[in-house]
Amino acid sequence: MKRIGLFLKKQGFFLMLALCLCVIGASALWARSQADAPAQEDVDAGADMAQSLREAQRMRLNTAPLEGEEGAPFGRTVWLETLECWGAHEAIDIAAQRETPVLAAAPGRVTQARRDRLWGGVVEIEHENGLSTCYRGLETPLQVAQGVEVAAGQTIGTVGTPPAESETGAHLHFETWLDGVPVNPALCLP
Ligand SMILES: [Zn+2]
Repeated sequence: MKRIGLFLKKQGFFLMLALCLCVIGASALWARSQADAPAQEDVDAGADMAQSLREAQRMRLNTAPLEGEEGAPFGRTVWLETLECWGAHEAIDIAAQRETPVLAAAPGRVTQARRDRLWGGVVEIEHENGLSTCYRGLETPLQVAQGVEVAAGQTIGTVGTPPAESETGAHLHFETWLDGVPVNPALCLP
């Protein structure tokens, strides 16, 4: 005990000094790590950008459903004649001559092929990665049936006039959905 006591007495100063240096060093390292850490906003912005990039990759279509003139754009509030109300236009309209072939914009499976009172012929195709496309205003009869697999560029029907948007004449009302949320088809087209 005596020897240990003596040792501590002799070395105490140096032990305390070493301890102080450790504390100072650790504080400096901590402060540095805080300074180097990116701000939370930067982290969030980076994550948002990575997310957008991943979504952009999933939103790629192989082909336009048809060549035609751009009609009502995505997001505009439009008067829906048949419904007699205002609604957001979650689609793009592509005007073309009646009976112009309408093509599947990417390979997939037809999840809807029906005739609708408001929209005429409607075809919905489910693609990979949570992306789906919907084609409204087609002439009937349609050229695909529910449940069939289609290739990109395969004809699914022809352009007609959607009753809900009859005031703008013959056109395709074209929608794209990502994980069930409408996205601007213009961003998905090649
Ligand atoms: Zn439309």
